Amino acid sequence: MNLWDRRARLFVESWIRKFGKLTQFLYFSDRKCREFVRQYQREHGLVADGLAGVRTFAHILDLHWPVESYHDPAVPDVRHPIVSRGFVPGHDGLDIDFEGLPHDDKSPERYSYEGGRAYAFPEGPMIVAPCDGVITAAKRIRTGYLCYLGDVTGGKWLHFHGSDLRVKVGQHVSRGAELMTPGYDPRWGPNLIHLHWSRVDPFAKSRVDPRPWIEVAKFAPAVVR
Ligand SMILES: [Zn+2]
Repeated sequence: MNLWDRRARLFVESWIRKFGKLTQFLYFSDRKCREFVRQYQREHGLVADGLAGVRTFAHILDLHWPVESYHDPAVPDVRHPIVSRGFVPGHDGLDIDFEGLPHDDKSPERYSYEGGRAYAFPEGPMIVAPCDGVITAAKRIRTGYLCYLGDVTGGKWLHFHGSDLRVKVGQHVSRGAELMTPGYDPRWGPNLIHLHWSRVDPFAKSRVDPRPWIEVAKFAPAVVR
């Protein structure tokens, strides 16, 4: 079975896990699975190529950013989170922050100026579930609290550096549920608060770059605090 056939079959299985119907599809052919993907894509305004890529899986997950947006009283618009550090050798996830603005609190955990850019993490936005799923790990380690969320594709979303936890292992959560209060990596003393976010892919079974996922994810609703 080639990769796209495996992905199409996983998409059908994910659909069944999410909607609980179509059990007969488990016995369908690769061609039928590809047809099912194409039909789903057509119905939801996606490119109907029958290839279950990131965009198609992100759609069935209704994937959103794992950090809430922020209705900042000091600027006339909503501030959305940004990626402040990418997935590179030695750093197996994305760091998520906000763009730093002149009025931001300049304490070391709230503001940082690096490589000619200002980053901030204002008070208010929480770490939230990027999709529906089940909590598979929730504990404190030396890098702070972590929370792993398993989704219907068999993938896991990994959230690190929380300063507390709002969920327990085995708990079913809906997209947008509060997972953790954001924090910093306590190994280095007070430093910029950020979410370290990664994905364990069901095919690779190892951490993969979530960048293609975050690029198609919708922004979480803004909090006003
Ligand atoms: Zn990181």
